[in-house]
Amino acid sequence: MPSNANKDRSAYRRRWRVTGPQQCHCCRQEAPFCWRCRCGFRICQRCMQENIWGMSCNAITWDCPDCGARNGLGNQ
Ligand SMILES: [Zn+2]
Ligand SMILES: [Zn+2]
Repeated sequence: MPSNANKDRSAYRRRWRVTGPQQCHCCRQEAPFCWRCRCGFRICQRCMQENIWGMSCNAITWDCPDCGARNGLGNQ
């Protein structure tokens, strides 16, 4: 399991810009593209690939580790 996924979660509770680099909530680095959950959680492509086994069971959807919502992998 990723060990840094749940650290300092309260720091994430703010609005994020819609455009420009997006900060991955997993590795904390800015990425040109992140998958996004309705709750505001974002994860970059690299982290998604590293954690796909824990977040997706079918490579079509992924479950947000923050709120548990199901999101599509291919529609963003
Ligand atoms: Zn990342
Ligand atoms: Zn979520």
